[in-house]
Amino acid sequence: MKDLLVNQPALGTMARSWRHPKTGSRTNSEPCLGARARFLSFNRTQSRAVTGLLTGHYTLRRHLHLPGLMDSPLCRRCRAEEETSTHILCECEALASLRHAYPGSFFLEPEDIKSISLGVIWNFSKVTGLP
Ligand SMILES: [Zn+2]
Repeated sequence: MKDLLVNQPALGTMARSWRHPKTGSRTNSEPCLGARARFLSFNRTQSRAVTGLLTGHYTLRRHLHLPGLMDSPLCRRCRAEEETSTHILCECEALASLRHAYPGSFFLEPEDIKSISLGVIWNFSKVTGLP
């Protein structure tokens, strides 16, 4: 489940994100609605890239390697780890300087992805040349 970063509020789990994880009480839904509005403003290319990058169902090598469409699952940038969405968004050392520009940190924890706007994820996706 390394690729599943679908807890990003804009991608299908908004209802769960509206509830506090421990108390179950409703939280302010404004950030979720903002993310939803932003996502709905994306064109098809942007939607596909952001959704694919967050879920791992994308042109990432690990995803293409599983059905035999790619010889190696290793990252095309660093060749040190499998190219997954977590690796690209959080860990890849070859993308650290681009990650510093978008979203502003050299390395991230997967939990940090929840707080990053979809526009920033789109911009990061564009500068990496992955879409
Ligand atoms: Zn890498």
